[in-house]
Amino acid sequence: MEAVVRTSGRIYPVQLDDQEWRARLAPAEYAVLRKGGTERPFTGEYTDDHTEGVYSCRACGSELFRSTEKFDSHCGWPSFFAPLAQDRVEYLSDGSAGMTRTEVRCANCGSHLGHVFEGEGYDTPTDQRYCINSISIRRGPATPPVAGTGTGPAGQE
Ligand SMILES: [Zn+2]
Repeated sequence: MEAVVRTSGRIYPVQLDDQEWRARLAPAEYAVLRKGGTERPFTGEYTDDHTEGVYSCRACGSELFRSTEKFDSHCGWPSFFAPLAQDRVEYLSDGSAGMTRTEVRCANCGSHLGHVFEGEGYDTPTDQRYCINSISIRRGPATPPVAGTGTGPAGQE
C-alpha cells in the first residue's frame, strides 16, 4: 500500500527535503516518520519501557513525551495520556484506514508519530491514548524543569 503523505500547510521550523531525510534516518525510521507507516505491534523498543526519561522526536530531537505520562495500554505500542506540551505536537484528521483517526505529528518537523484516541475508558487523567511508534521517538534522560518555561511541577495548567 502506498502511503499518501498529506500536508497540513504548517511551516515547520525544521525543513529538510526528502533526500536529506533519507540520508539522516534509517530506512525503517524513514518509513514511519516521513511516510506515515506503522511499526508492527509489540515490536517497538519502548512498548513496555518504564524507565524515567523524556522521549524526543527521532527525526529532529524535539522533546515530545515524558515517562510520567506513559501508561500501560496493552495495545502494542508506547502509549501516553498527554504530550509534554500541546504545542510540541500537531494533529491531523486521518481517514486512511477506513475510519477517521487523528494523526499525531511532531510540530517541529512534521514527522509522523502515531495517532491519538480518546474515550476508550483507560484509567488516566485525560482518557486519551497517544499511540506512538517506538521508532518515531528516542528516550533520553529526564531533564530538570527549566525556570520560566511553565513546565515545572508547580504549574497547574
Ligand atoms: Zn520532529
